[in-house]
Amino acid sequence: MARIETPKRVRGTQDIFGEEQRRFARVVEAFEKVRRLYCFQQVQVPVFEATNVFARSMGETSDVVSKEMYTFPDRGDDLLTLRPEFTAGICRAYITEGWQQYAPLKLTTHGPVFRYERPQKGRYRQFHQLDAEIIGAAEPAADVELLTFGDQLLRELGISEGVTLQLNTLGDAETRDAWRAALVAHFEKHRGELSEDSLTRLEKNPMRILDSKDPRDRPVADAAPDIDAYLTSEAGAFFEAVTAGLDAARVAWTRNARLVRGLDYYRHTAFEFVTDGLGAQGTVLAGGRYDGLIGNLGGPETPGVGWAAGIERLGMLTEAPAAEQPEFVIIPVGEIAERFCTGLIADLRRRNIHCEMAFRGNLKKRMQRADAAGASYAIIVGDDELAAGEIAVRSLKSGEQARRKLSEVLSGPSGGRTFALVELTKGLDGIAGKE
Ligand code: ATP
Ligand code: MG
Repeated sequence: MARIETPKRVRGTQDIFGEEQRRFARVVEAFEKVRRLYCFQQVQVPVFEATNVFARSMGETSDVVSKEMYTFPDRGDDLLTLRPEFTAGICRAYITEGWQQYAPLKLTTHGPVFRYERPQKGRYRQFHQLDAEIIGAAEPAADVELLTFGDQLLRELGISEGVTLQLNTLGDAETRDAWRAALVAHFEKHRGELSEDSLTRLEKNPMRILDSKDPRDRPVADAAPDIDAYLTSEAGAFFEAVTAGLDAARVAWTRNARLVRGLDYYRHTAFEFVTDGLGAQGTVLAGGRYDGLIGNLGGPETPGVGWAAGIERLGMLTEAPAAEQPEFVIIPVGEIAERFCTGLIADLRRRNIHCEMAFRGNLKKRMQRADAAGASYAIIVGDDELAAGEIAVRSLKSGEQARRKLSEVLSGPSGGRTFALVELTKGLDGIAGKE
């Protein structure tokens, strides 16, 4: 007989459960909370787009476009790509949906993104990002607001202590061209000392040599000219305004003149929030200004600035919240009791009270289950007691148990009767039930 092969999880994907999932949810909840405080609107964009949306905006020579995208022809032979990030899709939507009328537009989204990378701790092929963008604002105040949002998210998660904001400017187009020429001249002089990867970068994207992780490149990269000497006065003033804004908002930052970011579309502000708590995968939140992107996509020239953060990486730094704990565990013993308890638990849950039903094993097993669930009270309902109009309530904190007359704990007309929780739990341990 042919054995059925057990299915495998696809390399680089994750099944997120338990403590890991609770950390994941905590990150998303914190993001939502801060999003509201900063008055950003939520947006949903497709998981896949026409390939050229990413190719044109992120740049053919970027790592993501040149080797990390999941690209496939669909059944109609359209070339599609699973989103490797959110920014390009949001900018595409801005153009196709005519969102210019709402500019400046402050948007957030979150969800899965896909990159064909070598999987390791903190690096997956399907991972999840939080994303925040301000589109249609050229002012440095927009950069400051976004960075302060990022900083507040880390504070909310209790991880800001171990994370540093590294900041750089890539200048305007004029600055970038002049700096790029100076970099090329420097790297050409030291060709012989560069890694093979960096020789390719030299042809296609010389700025990327600056943040090469290859130790062979470091001496040449570290000796390369800084952008500062090439900054136009406008670009210099823009960077000044951003750093002054961050200081005013009391967001700590450090200058990293070697920070260039992987994508071609960045202008002016570029930044990364970095921790040394995650080894090589230390960047938890990163972004910058992309004033050329929407124009590149064929839309009207529109400034923009944004960031994305890895939910898994943020989750790894945060403490896991406890699992949901019921306030009551309901324990029916007998068939009539079980039906009664089905009504009881539905009633409690409709009143926003967390509860669980223990319906497996003998009474002892069920009591153990109530204890293990971390509940405050167990409500024990037996057929015989029920026939006598009684149920039992036990405080799992004090161990005290009491019998209650149904006539005392139930109120309201029959059919719509609800439990008076104060009556149910009174005297057991001084903790009055919530009404
Ligand atoms: P890295 O240098 O780690 O590859 P990146 O510059 O490619 O990062 P971005 O494109 O800026 O990353 O994405 C924003 C954030 O998404 C990163 O700071 C990181 O937290 C997260 N991230 C990026 N790639 C992955 C991945 N493969 N798995 C998990 N998280 C990731
Ligand atoms: Mg990457």
